[in-house]
Amino acid sequence: MGKHFVSARAVGLIVVSLRRVRCSAAFKAAGTAKIYGHAEVLQQLKDIADKLLQPKETRFIGDRLHFVSVADGEAVSVIGRATTFFDIHSTKTKQFGFSMDIGGGKKLTCCGDEPCNEFGKPYAENSEWLLHEAFCLHSQADIFDPYSKNHSTVKDACELAESLHVKNLLLYHTEDKNLSARKELYRAEGKKYFSGKIHVPDDLDALAL
Ligand SMILES: [Zn+2]
Repeated sequence: MGKHFVSARAVGLIVVSLRRVRCSAAFKAAGTAKIYGHAEVLQQLKDIADKLLQPKETRFIGDRLHFVSVADGEAVSVIGRATTFFDIHSTKTKQFGFSMDIGGGKKLTCCGDEPCNEFGKPYAENSEWLLHEAFCLHSQADIFDPYSKNHSTVKDACELAESLHVKNLLLYHTEDKNLSARKELYRAEGKKYFSGKIHVPDDLDALAL
């Protein structure tokens, strides 16, 4: 599942990035965009883009849309913020998370598509913002079976965030069977295990850091 999921999102990311580049091209602005990843996933992105998109779109890759290869533990400046990428050591497929310095001694850390493990904890610990997957409520684990997909419940993610002294926990990559009540239900379960603030954004929600 993980590979499909990442691929689908990745193509979406390329399309959005290319649209952004094309829009700015239409206005004759010097629009560029960057996608950061390890070398293998960037090659996969390039291959998928070549298969699914038109040459009039893919011609921007390498010209206006840049794929930037990063290594485990490497720090680069992204939108002016020092950002460190780290290998989450997935047993499914090679995946990176990242931790960004957002100023004032604070950091925002994204653990990727799997529960934060020993490799990610040094980055996630004491994060002002932690972005972590939570596939479903713990009370519904028997329905959605998150562990078979190497995913967490809300309770698991909240206990982890509490143990890592996180301030704001943002839960993503959830089941979507009850979207109208998801925010409320996930927060209600999570607050029993996490004393910080829990965010369960809907599509297009914006958050101020
Ligand atoms: Zn997943």
